[in-house]
Amino acid sequence: MADSETDTLADTDLEPAREALLSWYRVDHRSFPWRETTDPYEILVSEVMSQQTQLSRVVTAWTAFLEQWPTVADLADDSRAEVVGFWTDHSLGYNNRAKYLHEAACQVVTEFDGQFPSDPETLQELMGVGPYTANAVASFAFNNGNAVVDTNVKRVLYRAFAEIHNADDPDYETVANALMPPGESRIWNNAIMELGGVACGKKPRCDEASCPWREWCHAYQTGDFTAPDVPTQPSFEGSRRQFRGRIVRLLGEHDEMDLDTLGHRIRVDYTPDGEHGQEWLRGLLSDLSDDGLVQVEEEGDQITARLQ
Ligand code: SF4
Repeated sequence: MADSETDTLADTDLEPAREALLSWYRVDHRSFPWRETTDPYEILVSEVMSQQTQLSRVVTAWTAFLEQWPTVADLADDSRAEVVGFWTDHSLGYNNRAKYLHEAACQVVTEFDGQFPSDPETLQELMGVGPYTANAVASFAFNNGNAVVDTNVKRVLYRAFAEIHNADDPDYETVANALMPPGESRIWNNAIMELGGVACGKKPRCDEASCPWREWCHAYQTGDFTAPDVPTQPSFEGSRRQFRGRIVRLLGEHDEMDLDTLGHRIRVDYTPDGEHGQEWLRGLLSDLSDDGLVQVEEEGDQITARLQ
């Protein structure tokens, strides 16, 4: 177990953390049709649409768009007005994005011989394709991108890796790229974005979503879930308060629990004799008992807790 106060990315053996995230993603993730394709055109359309529209609505629009213009050549052949009309009909936000998408299709056909470039730098030559979109297309279509850094990923990195917020000028790209297994941008970027989307949201769901990084996560260990887009979070303001919440929630699911079982369930670094062990847990239970929330019974060495 790494020391969460002093741990840095360089100190950490990255392999277990990488493997844990990839396994978590492989076992279960949200299904989006653009995750099933490696066609750069289809992926570019999904990326442009998702910039301003909820993912659940993008699915319908994306499917209809590809029925109307199945290939990049079909899109380039049609008129810009048709594409803008589609954009408006599907409430996809700024029409400029439709114009750029159409223009990018024309560029692929005329300047790139109908083949999408496969690296992020060249993809940025396409109209309306900025660094983020270029990298997403390079990753998801060609497995040839850098680590994606969006708001969700920044939140995960900030919480999980202490050096991000210990540094004066956090450089998320460096940390994100160091973390990404070489040559695995397709699955890795999908996985870390999924983590930010379903587990490490503004209100984190560490236990509920079985976050695979609890063991290494600075925020999880300390109870400080601050992040760039979550400046303060009163309900998670301190570890004691958070762990009290976990205890009450767990005891609500069980008639009673003995001390060590409870300890192992509320934090991954629980060891009976450790810093966060029996003594620490007994302190929390004693507070909860004083507040009339929990009843604690001691019989010899056996300590059992239940809700009052
Ligand atoms: S343990 Fe919680 S805070 Fe840490 S990365 Fe996972 S979901 Fe985010």
